[in-house]
Amino acid sequence: MGNIENPMVLDSHWPHLEQPEPKVIGECVGCQEDIVNLDAWLELMVDGEEIMIHQDVDCTYQFIADRAVCKGE
Ligand SMILES: [Zn+2]
Repeated sequence: MGNIENPMVLDSHWPHLEQPEPKVIGECVGCQEDIVNLDAWLELMVDGEEIMIHQDVDCTYQFIADRAVCKGE
């Protein structure tokens, strides 16, 4: 005994570790903004190319709307 380190105590000495630095993973094909590792995103193959898009209704809609032709009366 006497030499056991308490991880809870050690963590309190490094509060900055609780706020990880966002890291850019790629660019969203919907909103054209950066995708960072803290976001939720989707990856899919389109025309043989792997694309990334935020897991967000606005981004996915924008992506479809840019490529699709609106039909109907
Ligand atoms: Zn987006």
